[in-house]
Amino acid sequence: MTTQRKSLDLARSNRTPTDPNANAPAKAKLNRDGFRQFSRIAPYLRPHRLKFAIGIALITVSGILTLLVTRLWGQLGGVGVDASSGQGGFELPLPIDAGDLKQIGIAIFMVLVLQSALSFIRIWLFGEITTRMLKALREDAFASMITQPMAFFDNRRVGDLGSRIAADIEAIRDTFTVVLAELIRQTIIIGGGLLALMTFSWKLTLLMLGTLPVAMLAAMGFGRFIRKLSKKTQDAIAGSNTIVSETLTGIVSVKAFAREAFELNRYRQRIEEVRGIALRTALWRGAFASFIIVMIFGAITLVLFQGATMLKNGELSSEQFFSFLLMTGLVAGSIGGLANIFGDLQRGFGAIEEVMDLIVKEREAVDLTRLDTPRSTDSQGLTIRFDNVSFHYPNRPETMVLDGINLELTAGETLALVGGSGAGKSTLASLITAFRAPTNGLLEVDGMAVANHDLTALRRRMALVPQEVILFGGTIEENIRYGRPGASEADVRKAAEDALALPFIDGFPEGFSTLVGERGIQLSGGQRQRIALARAFLRDPELLLLDEATSALDAASEKAIQNALERLLQKRTSLVIAHRLSTVRSADRIAVMEGGRIVEIGDHGTLMAAGGRYRELVEHQLEDTNP
Ligand code: ADP
Repeated sequence: MTTQRKSLDLARSNRTPTDPNANAPAKAKLNRDGFRQFSRIAPYLRPHRLKFAIGIALITVSGILTLLVTRLWGQLGGVGVDASSGQGGFELPLPIDAGDLKQIGIAIFMVLVLQSALSFIRIWLFGEITTRMLKALREDAFASMITQPMAFFDNRRVGDLGSRIAADIEAIRDTFTVVLAELIRQTIIIGGGLLALMTFSWKLTLLMLGTLPVAMLAAMGFGRFIRKLSKKTQDAIAGSNTIVSETLTGIVSVKAFAREAFELNRYRQRIEEVRGIALRTALWRGAFASFIIVMIFGAITLVLFQGATMLKNGELSSEQFFSFLLMTGLVAGSIGGLANIFGDLQRGFGAIEEVMDLIVKEREAVDLTRLDTPRSTDSQGLTIRFDNVSFHYPNRPETMVLDGINLELTAGETLALVGGSGAGKSTLASLITAFRAPTNGLLEVDGMAVANHDLTALRRRMALVPQEVILFGGTIEENIRYGRPGASEADVRKAAEDALALPFIDGFPEGFSTLVGERGIQLSGGQRQRIALARAFLRDPELLLLDEATSALDAASEKAIQNALERLLQKRTSLVIAHRLSTVRSADRIAVMEGGRIVEIGDHGTLMAAGGRYRELVEHQLEDTNP
């Protein structure tokens, strides 16, 4: 019961019901720090700086052309009307007759054609830049992720990390394809548009500026508040969805423990919360709509009314009034758009921060340049020496998981590690593979401190069969070949045979080409383990680490594999962690671990004769298997 519950809870904690938005890109403040984040991405932009500068220039021109078109549209409002009344308004910078409809039409058309061409080139340029930039960013982010030290993965939900970085990179793409361009364009339109408005009528402009932006700013603040509420709703919904997916994933436990009512109740509470929040949001939305109608439309009416009065009094020509209105619409639209752009920009900065933080994170000294190198075959195995080694996990400094380990493995020796779960056996193995570094003491491989070894070269001399075997989504053959990519077909087959995997592989219609994982067949735990063993055998390592590598096999298969193992372990140093003690009997030496210490060490016969902890464990297991 307790282990079941524990695994259920573990599954839960891995999926963090508390943080349903883990995949949403982070936002950064739009202050100096935000812009500093922006400059961090400069190295990725630098190779494309010329194209980038041209793109920026094109946006600038395009913004100015937008103003020009608006002015030309305004001109249409004056055609056919007596233009004697009203003065001012900036002169059209075009050699056309301001009263000639045909000429204005042709001018508008030509500007539009020019603008569309510029836009096309600009978008293509930015596409060109960002696709290259993002490729480099993705590569660096992935490289950094997989070369992080093991400790990095302790506190992270690995799947989440991948999708979050993917979302962040998408946000960066948005920033460089859309957001930056829009920011520049809108700024030009707002600045240039306001100047133009002043030339038509400064009085009307001031009135407009005194009312419309105030109303818009208020609306934006209100809008932001509503968005926050909506986000709360989204969060609540995501929280309730977590319950659904957790329950479905753990359906076996739910049913086995008759917890359906409990889950339903939990879900009911959450969706009641969702309902409450959603209703509150709806009410505020209604208030928002009323507010917009009164404020924004009120302001527009005021400006229109004043303009019409001036038109009637002859202070403004109809063409100016028309231009004024169109230009105001353009500027107001841009001001409204700017708010969204700032939001997007914040998201972009946040995303850059996340991605760059990952990229600059200190990595393991793994060699990413050599795809693979064959090992030297004449070695008789590595030597390992633990000299008073202690270790605690970085996230749990108070628990010493290894406590003063002194241990030597000579070349070619097979050492078995036994002891209760949680004794520190896997941890000890993870120090040898340099997944973890000793907190205190010295760990030497072949007479040199692990820290001084070339990490990649060192790991290439080892093979690990972990407790939990996760296969990659390819074929069985690809999964075995992972141990030694260049291996011949005969070698792959031989490794599978040694691992007793051949019978079931040949039993599949597609044999070694059978796809495993999601789109292929599902393999049992024992089959996965045998493939992982074959992978390790194929690698032909100098040090073989087997961590409960046969635990998922039935007793008969385990016995059969034992014979193959004994032969394979001879040529190399081996560390075998095993729960079933019958499998370690023939090891050269057996070390019994308890609470992070080695409490006994010796061969089977000696330890049995000594009548200590090992003998107790063996007798315990005998009792368990023959009640
Ligand atoms: P064994 O292999 O003997 O079952 P482990 O080496 O797996 O034992 O674990 C030893 C102790 O270290 C346990 O108490 C376990 O909870 C803890 N531990 C294992 N992995 C981690 C980790 N990544 N972070 C923190 N503590 C861990």
